[in-house]
Amino acid sequence: MREVKFILATLLTILIVSARVSSGQNVPLNVLATTTIVADVAQNVAGDLFTVQSLLPPNTDIHAYEPTINDARRISGVDLILAVGAGYESFLTSLIENVGENIPVAVMNSGLELRALGRDIHAPEAAISDHKLACEAQGNCDPHTWMDPAYVIGWVNNIVEAFSAADPANARVYRANGDAYIIELEALDAEITEMIEQIPAARRILITNHEFLNYFADRYGFEVAGTVLPGVSTGGEPDPRSMAALIALIREAGVPAIFAEVSANPQLAETVAQEAGVQVITNLYSESLSDAEGDAPTYLDLMRHNAQAIAAALEG
Ligand SMILES: [Zn+2]
Repeated sequence: MREVKFILATLLTILIVSARVSSGQNVPLNVLATTTIVADVAQNVAGDLFTVQSLLPPNTDIHAYEPTINDARRISGVDLILAVGAGYESFLTSLIENVGENIPVAVMNSGLELRALGRDIHAPEAAISDHKLACEAQGNCDPHTWMDPAYVIGWVNNIVEAFSAADPANARVYRANGDAYIIELEALDAEITEMIEQIPAARRILITNHEFLNYFADRYGFEVAGTVLPGVSTGGEPDPRSMAALIALIREAGVPAIFAEVSANPQLAETVAQEAGVQVITNLYSESLSDAEGDAPTYLDLMRHNAQAIAAALEG
């Protein structure tokens, strides 16, 4: 009889525990971000409640990314996917469809005012705002918003909302963690503003390998005068005429450097730089963090590192 009582008590305990699990109380969320940058920002909101994983590993160029069978396995069963959006993760929709599950995706750039890619380098300044408005209708928005910390504050608010919807019991924790990180982002913005002030206004001209610094330029008063690779991706190929025009532009403007990304092949940028007689800065981080030993293990480190490299090259 005592044994039966013991078995009943054990069964009851199991039932109570499983009821608690299925109601979602105190169960850590299983969240997967597409890139290491999104994962790091989201980790600051998650705090010590759970670990946010990244689908892509560090030092990976998402523009050249082909998902694997292992990626399909990894997204299966997650509670939430965090993505940049604006066409950045071109592989994501079909990857989720292949897995065949109804996985919610929170889009970091949702509700933020995006700017268009490929501003005509000779367009008058007044045209910029028109350009911004048109991008969503035309589907040519620039997704690289994280190059401006003010946009990442928008990401934090989107993440707080998504985590709180998935796990309402911890909504206050997510909000408090998010607010603490927003203070760090504001400090980062002030720090970069101070660094950039060392560059004379006339020298705040950027030539980049692919279009990844437009939001940085808008925020800190630079002009992106040209890019080596056309379009949003690192996969485009410029035609010889536009390369010749870019070389002429670099010489004319007296720009001392081309800024390229660690994760992309700098070969074309090096060819252009050699022709124009300028240097290539190849150690900027664009799509991904570095590993723990590198220059950019967190988003805050990435922005500091990029701003320092840009200031050092342009200070003169
Ligand atoms: Zn990019």
